[in-house]
Amino acid sequence: MTGLSNSAAVIREYDNKHYMHPWESMEDGRADRTISARAEGIYIYDQDGKKLIDGPGGMWCTQIGYGRQEIADAISEQVMQLSYHSPWNTASEPSALLARKLAELAPGDLNTVFFTTGGSTAVDTAMRFVHFYNNRLGRPDKKIVISRQKAYHGSTYLAASVTGKERSKSWFDIDTDQAHLLPDVNPNLRPEGMDLEAWCDLKVADLENAIIELGPDKVGAFIAEPILASGGVIIPPPGYHKKCLEVCHAHDVLYISDEVVTGFGRLGHWFASEDVFDIVPDMITCAKGLTSGYLPLGACLISDRILAPITGEGQEGVMFSNGYTYSGHPVSCAAALKNIEIMERENILQHVRDISPYFLERLNALGASPIIADTRGVGLVGCVEGRLTAGDESRLALDQKFGSRIDEKCEELGLIVRPLLNMCVFSPPLIITRQQIDDMFDILGRAIETLARETGES
Ligand code: PLP
Repeated sequence: MTGLSNSAAVIREYDNKHYMHPWESMEDGRADRTISARAEGIYIYDQDGKKLIDGPGGMWCTQIGYGRQEIADAISEQVMQLSYHSPWNTASEPSALLARKLAELAPGDLNTVFFTTGGSTAVDTAMRFVHFYNNRLGRPDKKIVISRQKAYHGSTYLAASVTGKERSKSWFDIDTDQAHLLPDVNPNLRPEGMDLEAWCDLKVADLENAIIELGPDKVGAFIAEPILASGGVIIPPPGYHKKCLEVCHAHDVLYISDEVVTGFGRLGHWFASEDVFDIVPDMITCAKGLTSGYLPLGACLISDRILAPITGEGQEGVMFSNGYTYSGHPVSCAAALKNIEIMERENILQHVRDISPYFLERLNALGASPIIADTRGVGLVGCVEGRLTAGDESRLALDQKFGSRIDEKCEELGLIVRPLLNMCVFSPPLIITRQQIDDMFDILGRAIETLARETGES
């Protein structure tokens, strides 16, 4: 049973011919992708009915797993109740309830929610808010947003401009006037003998020096993922975010925490900013796990502190003219409310906190292989990095394919991983059990062993 109405060959043909996927290779457009036919729990079934563990949890988003009847019911009831309303002119119960719920779950005074269609539009909204805010405060030059190498913030023009992953921007134009990238924060890059504290101070100094050099009157915001997710699961040194927030506030620079990946339980908390990294930022962007990927939805949460000077008296006729036809879509909001209700009822955040030490133990054990240079993770997100052999071009070329070669072998054995050049990243559905973690890492271990044998490194 494949669950497909058309033959896999027909679907693949149409897909190859007519569908331009994200990050599509322009080489020949015939990627011959695996067809996801159906899914349940943490498993995806392909065109031949083959069962695959979903290692990356879709795209870091399938928190409560696939095939939840309750979500389907909430969606269908909302469709029949009110499938759409204009967010310009009217309000709806699901979007109002969700806005209130997010304000309750968010740290500190982040009490205002702007709904978007996903993560990129949430980041875009945060950046446009920076423009609006500083224009309203009479400082139109304070617009530069500082970001970091390896950061990924999305695919709209503004979000791509603050993205620090070269491959995400190659062959595109970006707004270089409004973005400034800081060097990599990866603690593995610190010079021999330097401890984490000194590395942290150096990285915080990168931020402060950039603000001073560019001019505090020109820098509007700093944007940072709590952990750099698709940049390779890079966890900054302890205290980094807190010190960066202090620097930002000392120079009147807004701090945007991009929690598109880390929000909704990935690190065992609704939001990682305060509970894991001890900061209350000025804005939080989120998406993905908000609906567990059942429907598209994103949000930009804004603090009372920054809204106060630009709302109320003296603002007659001023409007925040940013928005989307599907802002606060009632069906997406109904799915998000049900998703949050399920996460609360099933105590999923606690489950993540309980199970993640085992996930990390199994992940780190892979580091024993001679072809693994590094393993790292936090919560239910992890990365294995292939080893680079400096000076050997052929090995270097091979290493850039480490991720896809592991992915290929894992898929044969029943596991999807997300290949990223010389790395594979994992962010399985948060409902994953100890047994399923074993299954996942057993397969990965076997794939690594086979690759090591093939490359003569075992
Ligand atoms: N921000 C971060 C940290 C992300 O990882 C992503 C997507 O992976 C985005 C923003 C963009 O989100 P979306 O793909 O929903 O537009």
